[in-house]
Amino acid sequence: MRNQRPLLAIRRECLACCSGSSKEVSLCPITTCALYPLRFGKKSKSKQTTLQAIKQKCRDCGEGTAKAVRECEFIDCALFQYRFGKNPQRKGVGGEGQRFQSKKAC
Ligand code: SF4
Repeated sequence: MRNQRPLLAIRRECLACCSGSSKEVSLCPITTCALYPLRFGKKSKSKQTTLQAIKQKCRDCGEGTAKAVRECEFIDCALFQYRFGKNPQRKGVGGEGQRFQSKKAC
């Protein structure tokens, strides 16, 4: 799932969370989820940036610890490459982009 945009990755994660049902994504009741404002894969008036929301979601998923996020092994997760709040496709653009590996608890 490399080379997909962060917003598309969020959309994919929400669809995965709702067993592929876009209707269920639109009806998602979990307003506290970091991805909630971005679940349609479109920018929204969210307090967090797209990458910050992904980082928060991964923190919530990884028992709230940076270590768990760092050690995440779910490389097929749509959010995996963005879990540090950085976009690897923008490597060298404004100093962003790193590679890591780890375990998903959600
Ligand atoms: S906003 Fe969160 S809880 Fe709702 S569908 Fe997306 S990932 Fe799942």
